[in-house]
Amino acid sequence: MKASQFLLATLKESPADAQTISHKLMLRSGMIRQLGSGLYHWLPLGLKVMRKVEAIVREEMSSIDCLEMLMPVVHPADIWQESGRWEDFGPELLKITDRHGRDACIAPTHEDAITSLMRNELNSYKQLPATFYQIQTKFRDETRPRAGIMRAREFIMKDAYSFHADTESLKKTYEQFFDAYHRIFNRLGLEFRAALADTGSIGGDLSHEFHVIAESGEDKIAISNESNYIANIELAESVTSIKRPAANAEMKLVDTPDKRTINDVCEFLGTTNDTSVKALFVKGSKEDNPLIALMLRGDHELNELKAEKHPLIFSPLTFANEEDIAKAMKCPIGYLGPVNTDIPVIADRHAAVMSDFSCGANQEGKHFINVNWLRDCAEPEVFDLRLVQEGDASPDGKGTLKFTRGIEVGHIFQLGDIYSKKMSADILNENGKSTPMQMGCYGLGISRVVAAAIEQHHDDKGITWPASLAPFDIALIPINMKKSQRLQLAAQALYEKLQALGYDVFFDDRKERAGFMFADAELIGIPHRLVISDKGLDTNEIEYKHRKDADSTNVSLEKLEGFLKERRG
Ligand code: ATP
Ligand code: MG
Repeated sequence: MKASQFLLATLKESPADAQTISHKLMLRSGMIRQLGSGLYHWLPLGLKVMRKVEAIVREEMSSIDCLEMLMPVVHPADIWQESGRWEDFGPELLKITDRHGRDACIAPTHEDAITSLMRNELNSYKQLPATFYQIQTKFRDETRPRAGIMRAREFIMKDAYSFHADTESLKKTYEQFFDAYHRIFNRLGLEFRAALADTGSIGGDLSHEFHVIAESGEDKIAISNESNYIANIELAESVTSIKRPAANAEMKLVDTPDKRTINDVCEFLGTTNDTSVKALFVKGSKEDNPLIALMLRGDHELNELKAEKHPLIFSPLTFANEEDIAKAMKCPIGYLGPVNTDIPVIADRHAAVMSDFSCGANQEGKHFINVNWLRDCAEPEVFDLRLVQEGDASPDGKGTLKFTRGIEVGHIFQLGDIYSKKMSADILNENGKSTPMQMGCYGLGISRVVAAAIEQHHDDKGITWPASLAPFDIALIPINMKKSQRLQLAAQALYEKLQALGYDVFFDDRKERAGFMFADAELIGIPHRLVISDKGLDTNEIEYKHRKDADSTNVSLEKLEGFLKERRG
């Protein structure tokens, strides 16, 4: 490609509204432009990179016999009503009405659509397992679109779906996808981790998220320093090996006037908050238990996602309001505890192994000290409620957890039969019995990968693409070509030769200063740079520099082909 024929839309200055590195560099290098909130144009340069991601993904999907297909972006409401997600998906689902007054939506994901399709196409276990994918636009009306295409409203996803006669087969295919995702992100040159994840609104039994490690990532992941345990901190299990010590002292009611926060109470009592238990009241899921009391060690934090998985707790987790608590407990927030209450108590694992602890007395202005489970109040139901912290023991018993930030670029789920049951996607199994299919789904954020790669590969001059993603292989830059016909001919000949050798060459034929052209090639992140000049032609040499090299080297024109081959690796 010649620069004169390309839309090189580089910007000198960083746009003021861009915060993250990748957003700034994608705008500055002329890869994207904003159309509206969370809506982006992909300029030719940006699209070139995105196509490279797609090509690798297509190859790896086809290596596991996953068939490419394409589904509509606009979905009639009825399939979403059938799956129950027309209401459940929430405000991220963009609903529209057509000229006939029919409800529809712009698809944020395609489980519902593919289940409605495949329940007709797949009828027998003999056709299974079957896997399909598409690379396509999704729309999610995100609350806070941010970081350019990293969290856009309209974005490109590869979404795959698998269908099975039984869970064994689902597990096998899930593993194939798990491995294929490893190959994809390795080929893309990204440092990444696969972490155990929450199944969220898509639902299902087991899921992994693939995270590109980056400081700017929105997700926090917990990694063991001694094993390969990795989980999103939303999901990471909090374990304790402590056995509850025996009770030591008599329970005592103490006045704690106007001390409502845990720190105030502890300071007043001369204790620390790791010897106290705090009570959090949340909405219950059953009518006969409208309130549930959660107990955590005073210095521990509640993980709301864990709590809402308990069958007695309403999902999404909703804290009880002051009025409801006052009515049920006859006591204001700040003095609540597990002693003398009919409300179901669920204690976190760490709170359940405490003894001689302090807690609210369910009486205004009073706390108990030296409380012991079973002796002074009912033995609580124990559940993992706590948000893990750095330094916690790893749940697999090996090492401690440390945190790192990641950008979620892929998410795979074992869905089981949640969609097939709701949407009657049945097949005849080996025994001739009609049974709902087992399903898996496998998302990969094609457009987000581009931004994530830049977060990991950049320097102060611009992008330093991994070879597999670079928009061009070689920048060919002539010095003062306008004045020299010899140079014009030599540069053109070299351009054609390199192309014939299979390189994607960016020939900067603009009448610009060398420094200006160098800066653009560096900003865009072209890995190899060749500078051709009259001076070089005099000695039959060309100047070479890799994007990551500090200095250039001279290479004789005869040896260039072999030299490039070697440098390309
Ligand atoms: P997130 O937690 O980031 O919102 P998600 O769990 O909603 O992601 P999935 O429904 O699993 O995402 O979608 C599959 C993949 O699509 C994600 O792993 C991510 O790479 C990509 N993706 C999701 N939402 C967006 C978005 N708003 N913009 C760009 N890519 C996205
Ligand atoms: Mg999301």
